[in-house]
Order: sequence, then C-alpha cells, then structure tokens
Amino acid sequence: MRFEDFNFTPSLQEGLDSMGFSKPTPIQAEAIPHILAGKDLIACAQTGTGKTASYLLPLLHKIEEEDKSVIDAVILSPTRELALQIDQQIMGLAYFTGCTSIAVYGGGDGINYEQQKRALRDGVNIIVATPGRLIAHLTSGIIDLKHVKHLVLDEADRMLDMGFYDDIVRILSYLPAERQNLLFSATMPPKIRALSKKMLKNPAEVNI
Ligand code: AMP
Repeated sequence: MRFEDFNFTPSLQEGLDSMGFSKPTPIQAEAIPHILAGKDLIACAQTGTGKTASYLLPLLHKIEEEDKSVIDAVILSPTRELALQIDQQIMGLAYFTGCTSIAVYGGGDGINYEQQKRALRDGVNIIVATPGRLIAHLTSGIIDLKHVKHLVLDEADRMLDMGFYDDIVRILSYLPAERQNLLFSATMPPKIRALSKKMLKNPAEVNI
C-alpha cells in the first residue's frame, strides 16, 4: 500500500513527501480508511507505531475540505510534551495546506497563557490540549468549540491514570453531540472500555 492510494489533497501529499514518509505503517494502513469514512474508532497502539499520523492525516485531509474559519478538531493529550510533539507533526504535515494548530497546555507562566489566548483569538483549525488547561480557556470563554467535528483522545489510558476523567467528560459537554470520536490507547483496561462506551458510537476497532 502507498500513501497515494488514499488520494489525499495535493498539498497534504506534498507535506507527507517533505517529511519523508513514503509508506503507511500498519496502524496507518488500518486506521486511515475508517477515519476517512467518518467512523468513530478505538485503536490500541503504542508510541513509535506512527499512531499520531494515523489520525492527523485523515483529519487534515477533511479539514482542508471543510470550513477553515473555525476550530474543527480537538486533540486531547495527557502531557505538555506529547501535545508539543503532536503540534510539531501537524506543522510538518500541514505545511503546504492552509490548516493551522496550537498546543494549549498548563505550566509555564502567565506569558504562556497570554500567548495561547492571543493565538486562539486569531483563529486556528486544530487545538492540541492537555485537559486541565483547555477547561481553563473554555470557562474563560476564549475558545468556542461549537463547530468541532472531530475529537481525538491520544494516550487515553495515561489520561485516565493521571486523573483526567472528570475533565474529559466536562470537555465533552462543550462539543456538538454530532462529531467523530477517535480514541487511541496503549492498553485497553476496563476503564478505557467504559470511556469508549460513553464516548464512541459504533466504533471500528484497530489493534496493532
Ligand atoms: P508516533 O508513533 O506517532 O509517535 O510516531 C513515531 C515516529 O514515526 C514519528 O517520529 C513520526 O514522524 C514517524 N512516522 C510516522 N509515520 C511514518 C511513516 N509512514 N513513515 C516514516 N516515518 C513515520
């Protein structure tokens, strides 16, 4: 299988080429068709398998074809480090597209918070966020998630281990009920199964 088989937009294919990604990894080959088809997905995949691009590529493809003036996708990450890695991968893959993103995370100082506020006011298509900081921006009314069509939980097991369950459920209440949900986790303990039952509608399942 080749990336060309997915018929991504030319600017996204250009980003892939510039990143040196020539062939889909197994998780990409399995997950991308489900996500392009608009299905919810639960995927069991470790770091290093190419899991990040497996959801970023179909989302970027869809966003290119959707309204670029709104926040279209929210990606939740357990840590600031992972949020920054995801944001960097978006910048690489989306370089030739018109899609923009921002990483929103806690820690740092007031300047960091003010910078995030300013970038959010300027408008972005994808927010990559740690749950606590996203809630801070939501309650202060800076972020409007009314138009979000896609939600990703990355490293969902780690988010639950870190006590983010209540924050995740609270974030769900700010999103439209009609949306695509993608859950990625390295392990599948019962609490992940319970979360996926609450969040996902008739999901496709991928295990790598
Ligand atoms: P991840 O599992 O998402 O953390 O990705 C692990 C690493 O693999 C990252 O550095 C990606 O840039 C890289 N990567 C992802 N997909 C591909 C691909 N199809 N070909 C080559 N490298 C890739």
